[in-house]
Amino acid sequence: MESSTYVVIGAGLAGAATAWHLARSGHEVSVVERTTPAAADGSSHGSARIFRYGHDEPFWMDLVVRARAVYDELEAVSGTRLITPTGSLDFGARRQPALLARLMADAGVEHELLTAAQARQRWPQLAIDGEALWHPAAGVIDAEPTVEAMLEQARRHGARVLTHWPVEGVERLGGRAGFRLRGPGGQTLEAGHVVVAAGGFLPALLDRLPLPAGFRASLPALRVTQESAVHFPFAEPFAEPGAAWPTFIHDTNDLRIYCLPGGRDAGDRGQKIAEFGTGRPLGSAYDQDGVVDTANVARLVEYVRRHLPGLEPEPYASTTCLFTFTPTDDFLVDSADGITLVSPCSGHGAKFAPLVGQLAAHVATGGVPVDRFTAAAISRAG
Ligand SMILES: Cc1cc2nc3c(=O)[nH]c(=O)nc-3n(C[C@H](O)[C@H](O)[C@H](O)COP(=O)(O)OP(=O)(O)OC[C@H]3O[C@@H](n4cnc5c(N)ncnc54)[C@H](O)[C@@H]3O)c2cc1C
Repeated sequence: MESSTYVVIGAGLAGAATAWHLARSGHEVSVVERTTPAAADGSSHGSARIFRYGHDEPFWMDLVVRARAVYDELEAVSGTRLITPTGSLDFGARRQPALLARLMADAGVEHELLTAAQARQRWPQLAIDGEALWHPAAGVIDAEPTVEAMLEQARRHGARVLTHWPVEGVERLGGRAGFRLRGPGGQTLEAGHVVVAAGGFLPALLDRLPLPAGFRASLPALRVTQESAVHFPFAEPFAEPGAAWPTFIHDTNDLRIYCLPGGRDAGDRGQKIAEFGTGRPLGSAYDQDGVVDTANVARLVEYVRRHLPGLEPEPYASTTCLFTFTPTDDFLVDSADGITLVSPCSGHGAKFAPLVGQLAAHVATGGVPVDRFTAAAISRAG
């Protein structure tokens, strides 16, 4: 039997971030991961996530500004560039570019509100047909090295990372504070406090955690979906090195599209495009089958044909991935009787992850949670 003051379950972006912040504050930390860090069947694998400031509430805008500061710190201590600047565009009526511009002005985020003609002149590869908001500080997060950088920092502060260690259940130890985690091959690990950062696997683990009944009852319903993302190759002349491909969010009346450079996952030959949050609902991550939704691909091909002259409307790669949603799209960062749950959910957690880890470490060590991210608050609003 081994023991550690804090055991973090899951080495995706959320678990790695929480472990980093706990360890740097001097706590004894073990991370236990089902497979390997940034698990290929989790949500934090690969090379491409959008980092952007465009949110329609000051709360989120402020959180991105704070998250960027923690990313900057992580880049500095790890000596690794984790966010490649690309800038980002927001357009489409439902995206409300003018509102986003006002919020960015309030938050001190550099931006330009462009007419459709100005935007098309600057990015002829995009057939933008309305007002567009440009903000140059956006970029692309390299997800897997971000996980590795945070785990490496955690290790430097004494944490250990156990891989291929699926937690089968957690028991509360009678008579004294603490927990026993059951792992593979009858192994066990004792902990004073458990942090659960299991991503889309969380719904399958919940009933095997000794959560206080009231807390368990207050948890929001988590919805896990299997999303599809499709890679389209650059059309000439937009494939030339240095061609400026921003990331973008396009909210049409029918579709919410996000687009970013495909990164090394697909050989850097094009852009990755996906519909936001239209994937197949799953009970938990264990139910995923990795089958790309062909109807979804067909919609994206049509989208590229109509809106993206800079790409060939012929996919050359595709993939599935998992989103975990709360009913309000808020994150879950809450704690009860020695167990902290952390999930930077809803398809936009990568950009906040280092900050969410900081918030989770704060909550796990007895700090007051952000009211909006408590289980009860999310359930009440949802
Ligand atoms: C394709 C895709 C595109 C995305 N795009 C963006 C984007 O553009 N911008 C953005 O900000 N966010 C984006 N996101 C969201 C972001 O990546 C996620 O919010 C984030 O990765 C969630 O991290 P996590 O640590 O909560 O979950 P995960 O990365 O899934 O980590 C959970 C870990 O827990 C482990 N685990 C589970 N159960 C157990 C157990 N019982 N024992 C031990 N270990 C366990 C798993 O193996 C896994 O490694 C995207 C996500 C995907 C999938």
